[in-house]
Amino acid sequence: MSICTAPTYELEELNNLFIDLTSKNCNQRCSSCYIDFPVSKQVKDFLSIDTIKEALIDTSRDDIYCIYLTGAEPMTHPDFNAILRLCLKRCNVCICTNSSFLNEKKIRFLKKVEDEGTNQIFFKLTLAHYDEIMNDKARYRGNFRQTISALKILGRYHFTSVLSVQNFYKLSQEEIKENFKQIFKNNEMDVVDIQINVSYPNFEDENFSKPSPSTDCMKGRILSSGGVYACPFLSGDYRGRMGSSFKDYSTSINAETDFCATCSANGKTMFAIG
Ligand code: SF4
Repeated sequence: MSICTAPTYELEELNNLFIDLTSKNCNQRCSSCYIDFPVSKQVKDFLSIDTIKEALIDTSRDDIYCIYLTGAEPMTHPDFNAILRLCLKRCNVCICTNSSFLNEKKIRFLKKVEDEGTNQIFFKLTLAHYDEIMNDKARYRGNFRQTISALKILGRYHFTSVLSVQNFYKLSQEEIKENFKQIFKNNEMDVVDIQINVSYPNFEDENFSKPSPSTDCMKGRILSSGGVYACPFLSGDYRGRMGSSFKDYSTSINAETDFCATCSANGKTMFAIG
């Protein structure tokens, strides 16, 4: 019987700064979400703007390419617009959202915010299937239509978006790409980059402890109300805690969680888009 040992990943450079604006506040409840939600939707665990300012100062010598505003749902944060402006002063910002706040009025406003400076706003939206019914079963009712509509409007406003496909149904990459391309064509949309990820949890034996050539913890860290953590999967999880702030934090993680097994099976970053 072979003994599996977990890989250890070193942070090579801090290029991606993930900011968990809220760990548990979301206006939806996707059935396939990796977050362990409390029963109540009324959680108010919003990260303070002062904590974010401090992190930006502490990382001022790092070559950060992109700040990712994540959460549960980052756009529920009451200071979302102020935080977005603050982060855009530093570098490009990617908003990782369930798309339900992205109507035409909001997108027009976000374009004005982007136009105030030189850095760009990217969007990362997620679907689980190219079929509306199958998708909404794995996420929430109405998610498919909201997301396709948001991608269409974002394209009209010349935003760059990435569609992350959480491969909940274990389809082939070709099938996913071909079908989404057809949807984009039918909706007269610009072509959107598609990032296909395995779905959590993933314990495929042959990949369980195989080191991944590229993981989010090699190029980034996430700030949450509990301090600094290895990656968005492990935000708030003691197994991924790297330190209390960016003044002093660990650059090494023993990848022994079931989330890490999913990264091994995926073989590439799951959260960063670049
Ligand atoms: S779950 Fe996080 S810590 Fe574990 S391998 Fe993936 S990115 Fe690294």
